[in-house]
Amino acid sequence: MKLEILPVNYPKAKIDDESKLAFGRQFTDRMFIMEFDRKLGWHSARIQPYGPLSLDPAATVLHYSQEIFEGLKAFRRVDGSLALFRPRDNISRFNRSATRMCMPEVDEDFLLDSLLELIRLEADWVPKSEGTSLYIRPTMIASEAFLGVRPADQYLCYIILSPVGAYYSGGIAPVKIWISDNYVRAAHGGTGEAKTGGNYAASLMAAKEAAEKGYDQVLWLDASEKKYVEEVGSMNMFFLYDDKIITSPLKGTVLHGITRRSALKLLQNMGYQIEERALSVDEVMEGAANGRLKEAFGTGTAVVISPVGSFCYKDHCIQLGDGEPGELTMKLYKELTDIQYGRQPDKYGWITAV
Ligand SMILES: *Cc1c(COP(=O)(O)O)cnc(C)c1O
Repeated sequence: MKLEILPVNYPKAKIDDESKLAFGRQFTDRMFIMEFDRKLGWHSARIQPYGPLSLDPAATVLHYSQEIFEGLKAFRRVDGSLALFRPRDNISRFNRSATRMCMPEVDEDFLLDSLLELIRLEADWVPKSEGTSLYIRPTMIASEAFLGVRPADQYLCYIILSPVGAYYSGGIAPVKIWISDNYVRAAHGGTGEAKTGGNYAASLMAAKEAAEKGYDQVLWLDASEKKYVEEVGSMNMFFLYDDKIITSPLKGTVLHGITRRSALKLLQNMGYQIEERALSVDEVMEGAANGRLKEAFGTGTAVVISPVGSFCYKDHCIQLGDGEPGELTMKLYKELTDIQYGRQPDKYGWITAV
C-alpha cells in the first residue's frame, strides 16, 4: 500500500516551556490514518493534518464500543537521535486486540513504517528535557453506520501523537493504592487481555470512588473469587516479597504489558527469582504489615515504573516500609529509562531507530 503525505498549511505553536507539558492534552500537526472496508481491505493510507474525524452518528464504535488502542513512546536520546521502544510488540498486541474485538488486522510492517515516517515528519515535536517523550496513540474504531449488533464492515485506523512531560516532574512519588473488593475489571472469557476502550469505561466508577477517598489508583482483584491481586488501571503489578519477585500470571484477565515483559527480563538479569503466580490480597496486606513485602511497583508505558507507598483494603491502609520509593524500584526505573534514553547500550534489541 502507498502512503500519501498531505501538506500541513497551518502548523500549530509548540509549547516552549517543556515543564508545562501535561499528559495527552496537546497533539502534533499531523496524524496517520487509513480506512478499511470488506471489499478493498485497508486503503487510502495517508499522513494528513491533525484534525477532527467525520463520523456518522450511527457509527458502530459510538454504540457498541468496537474500539482498540495502543500506547508507546518516542524518545529523544542523549545523542540527539530519536527512537521507539519495542514498537513491534505494540503493533502485534494491537493485532491481537483487533482479533478479540472482531476487527481487521493491520499489516505490521506497513503500520510500523508509517509510524516511523510520521515521527520523522513530526521530529520537532519530540520534547528535549529529561524524562519527556512523544506519546504515540494508535487507535482503531468501527466506523460503519449501522445499528445492528455484529462486527462492522468499515473501520478507521489512525495514529495521533502527543508531547508529554516528565511523569515525575516533582520526583518519583509513591502511589496510594486502593484494592477494590467490590468492582472488577476482567473476568475469564472477557476482554481483559485486549486493549479496548470498554475496559476503561467500566473502570471509571471504581477510580472515581478511589479518588474521592484520597487514593491514587485501583488494584483489581480476580473476578471469580475476589481473592488474588491482578493489575492496576493501566499498570501491571510487581511485588518484592522476601527476596523473590512475584507478579500475576497472564491467564486471560491481565493485560500483556510490554513494560512488564521488559521489567521481568531486567529483574532476571539482576539475578532475582521470579514467580508468576496468583498472589492473594491477604498475602499483600500481611506482607505489608510484617515487612516481608518489601517493595511493590506498577509497570506501564506512561509511568514506566511507579512505586507503591501504601495499600488500602476494606478501608484499612498499610504503608510499605517507610513509604518512600524502594531501592529495587528505583534501580529498575533507572535501568529501563537508561536504555530508552540511550544512556546505556541496548543489549536486548528493544530500540528501533527512527
Ligand atoms: C496498557 C496497559 C498496561 C501496560 O502495558 P504497557 O505495554 O506496559 O504499556 C497494563 N494494564 C492495562 C490494563 C493496560 O491497558
